[in-house]
Amino acid sequence: MLPEQLWQAVLGQLELSISKPNFTTWFKNTGLLSLEAGKAVVSVPNTFTRAWFEKKYHRILMETLQQIAAQPVREIFYRVGARPTIAPAAAAPSRESPFSSSALSSAGSVRVTAGSGLNPRYTFASFIVGKGNELAHAAARAVAARPGEAYNPLFLYGGVGLGKTHLLQGIGNEVLSQHPAARILYVTCETFTNDFIHAVRGGQAKKFKDTYRGVDVLLVDDIQFIAGKEGSQEEFFHTFNALHQSNKQIVLSSDRPPKAIPALEPRLGSRFEMGMIADIGAPDFETRVAILETKCQERDYQIDKQIVGYIATVVQHNVRELEGALNKLIAFHQLKNIPPTLDFVKKFLASSQPTRKATTPKQIIQTVALYFDLPVEDLLGVSREKRLAFPRQIIMYLLREELKSSYPAIGHELGGRDHTTAMHAYTKIGRELETDSKLKQDVDLIRQRMYNG
Ligand code: ADP
Ligand code: MG
Repeated sequence: MLPEQLWQAVLGQLELSISKPNFTTWFKNTGLLSLEAGKAVVSVPNTFTRAWFEKKYHRILMETLQQIAAQPVREIFYRVGARPTIAPAAAAPSRESPFSSSALSSAGSVRVTAGSGLNPRYTFASFIVGKGNELAHAAARAVAARPGEAYNPLFLYGGVGLGKTHLLQGIGNEVLSQHPAARILYVTCETFTNDFIHAVRGGQAKKFKDTYRGVDVLLVDDIQFIAGKEGSQEEFFHTFNALHQSNKQIVLSSDRPPKAIPALEPRLGSRFEMGMIADIGAPDFETRVAILETKCQERDYQIDKQIVGYIATVVQHNVRELEGALNKLIAFHQLKNIPPTLDFVKKFLASSQPTRKATTPKQIIQTVALYFDLPVEDLLGVSREKRLAFPRQIIMYLLREELKSSYPAIGHELGGRDHTTAMHAYTKIGRELETDSKLKQDVDLIRQRMYNG
């Protein structure tokens, strides 16, 4: 069998055992250069892919090759840049990257970077890689290294507080450090939508278009909030196309994969799936420990290993909470000037943050009903009276935060309400919690009763 045919067969086999986005991402532009005396030479497009193959796909590749070639394969060498035997995409002349030197110098004068929306705190250097986020991180790095060329769009999704915003911003900061003249724009979906509405109302559609379509890298955070917003979806569709066609990089984050975003126009959903989709899962124990240790180092704070281990055991689901627990501890220490002991930390975390005993939707509803002294039936009923509507929104918020329920499931729990009602309630309460200390106290007390009552 020719190496070319052999490789086709290997790819055919691998395609069955590797997820589609991963397969497309990693095996595009690869080829088998030779297989002799148990030694295979595989060509890969870049060093990044080589590292990934060595780390992730070496075994499976070895086994598959051996199986299909029907001969022992003892070693695989990955050669970067050698012309692959199969190169469907490489055969087409590549469009000029906006980041090639000539394109960059001509981009020079107009710059959005001043209002790029980037926070310098979020860098790749301060991002801890572990199981759960390694694919997302690798993809983000690849995109930052070759904007518009690696995967376009890059779609990152995962639960709250797992590092989506950090990675999105990390890409922007990295590109900017490599190409100071690059035009980067980071926005939340909400900002995009609001900008659009204001532009239309204020007769500034052109300015809006110029801004959003004139960038080299567009980073849109929490794109799931475009659900149900038809006007914004239409505009985003055109923005997306304009950027994509001129090889400008688009990166999106969401709390769920494109297919699960409700009321999303199919043509937009299929755009979101055109490049690479990578999910971010909860960090495992080792990663949680590494994150805590790094945060301590960053703040020059000495902390006992046992205490770090304890925090990493108790706070499991969310990096933001992990940071929060540590920050509280450091603040307390600085305030009282007594170094925390393990016993102290146990009590302290138990009082400031409920340990997550299992709770159920029924428990949440009942606790809120009891707290506000309202009958459960009324909360699940149709009346939109304010005295009912507000506690109802708190229930929806808690169902999402505590149980990670889907919006349709939340709507269902609440007597058959629409998922958009649930989404709205979650965002609204979440936002108000940042500024309204009375509400925060209510929600904290409800949580305490829920878990300790
Ligand atoms: P999301 O956007 O997914 O809700 P964020 O990106 O806002 O989450 O992350 C929440 C907090 O946790 C941020 O302060 C972020 O810097 C931090 N964080 C998340 N993941 C990591 C990580 N892998 N390494 C270091 N810090 C992290
Ligand atoms: Mg975020």
